[in-house]
Amino acid sequence: MTGKRVAKDPAAGKKKVLKAHAKKEHPNEKIDAKHKPEIKVKNDQPEINIGIIGHVDHGKTSLAKALTGKWCDTHSEEIKRGISIRLGYADATFYKLMTPSGTIYSANPSDGEIMHKRVVSFVDAPGHETLMTTMLSGAALMNGAILVIAANEKCPQPRTIEHLMALKFAGVEKIVVAQNKVDLLTREQAMESYAAIKKFLEEYDYKEAPIIPISANFGANVDLLIQAIEEYIPTKGYDPSLPLKMFIARSFDINKPGTKTSDLKGGIIGGSISQGEININDEIELYPSINSGKTITKVVSLSTSIGPITKATPGGLIAIGTTLDPSVAQGDRLRGTIVAKPKTMPEPTKNVNLTLHMFDRMLIDLEEKVLVKTTDPLVLTVGTNTVIGVVTKSDGKKASVVLKNEVVAEKGEKIAVSKNINGQWRLVAYAEVN
Ligand code: GDP
Ligand code: MG
Repeated sequence: MTGKRVAKDPAAGKKKVLKAHAKKEHPNEKIDAKHKPEIKVKNDQPEINIGIIGHVDHGKTSLAKALTGKWCDTHSEEIKRGISIRLGYADATFYKLMTPSGTIYSANPSDGEIMHKRVVSFVDAPGHETLMTTMLSGAALMNGAILVIAANEKCPQPRTIEHLMALKFAGVEKIVVAQNKVDLLTREQAMESYAAIKKFLEEYDYKEAPIIPISANFGANVDLLIQAIEEYIPTKGYDPSLPLKMFIARSFDINKPGTKTSDLKGGIIGGSISQGEININDEIELYPSINSGKTITKVVSLSTSIGPITKATPGGLIAIGTTLDPSVAQGDRLRGTIVAKPKTMPEPTKNVNLTLHMFDRMLIDLEEKVLVKTTDPLVLTVGTNTVIGVVTKSDGKKASVVLKNEVVAEKGEKIAVSKNINGQWRLVAYAEVN
């Protein structure tokens, strides 16, 4: 699944990549299968969510495939138009392996003797300008990210900047840059692109971020990218005493048409816990509720893409089986909802008061300075929830917004503010809820 190892040299150009591809450096046969230690895994829940972000067509979905073996574009419209429309999700297990020629990282455990493993969830964000708000709803889930930058285009492209700004405001500090499509370049061109990326990262306060030249299509240097992810984006510890908060990213009805009522399974909700823990049989509440009143349900099962788990903690993606009427969970209808323990979250509201932190127009590549004015329509991203609203009062620093749908926002919570500029929703500010 992962590619063959080539030099970490930024100039890893076409010839080097292709040559390394032809060469088999770590033959599996050399490892005696009988002597492989059995790996004890406490919990197979993915430990961390890593976003795959960047400009359209730079190779995010191709890289998600190279890392996880799964193609995230599955929506029929996505396949027809060749772009990702929704957030894509896939898990991968990465291994640190001992081989006769040293330590390597791989998604393939048979490449050597397993020294360490980590299960990681990936969130593949759409890079198209019209889908910025979808990307923003994914930012709430990300603990770290891979910023994909095509080496054959000038850096930075508009969404390269905007996605990085989205991560910055979401507090995502650890990013690894995949300098993609190096197979299309000469060594000199690859060096130039590398230097431009480095300069861009310095300007945007991400100068520590490792840059790995790769070719997602040829699988070249994917192992070095895995190494950078494993070494640079650590799993965070968590405090089990904090109250539960989980963002729902998707929801489904898993019953086949025609299932007898007595055999119906409850709605499934999927997403990531940002704090606290969930155990089977826990009572949980959805905020905002589905209809007016409270939506309290029970956790009947917990699982990951690998299989059932008994306890879920902050980190990668999980799915919760509930006692909800399955029809309310159909087709991602609960996306944007928050899961918490009953009566622990503020009342849902359509009125929010915000303190605005406008982004510098240069930082977000806009020609004119942006203001948030009374009667402006805005899109607010609160966690994984995206809501449209209208500004009823603004002095440029503080604004009141009336929303079309209810949100649950805690005091001090950071939310993303997008404004329509020339027909596109552009990220223009982040705001704190007062
Ligand atoms: P996304 O919009 O960022 O998700 O980009 P996609 O993964 O859909 O890829 C866009 C196009 O770039 C597709 O035609 C891919 O085949 C191509 N592509 C992706 N990675 C590479 C690569 O490493 N080398 C080359 N030559 N093309 C690539
Ligand atoms: Mg894509």
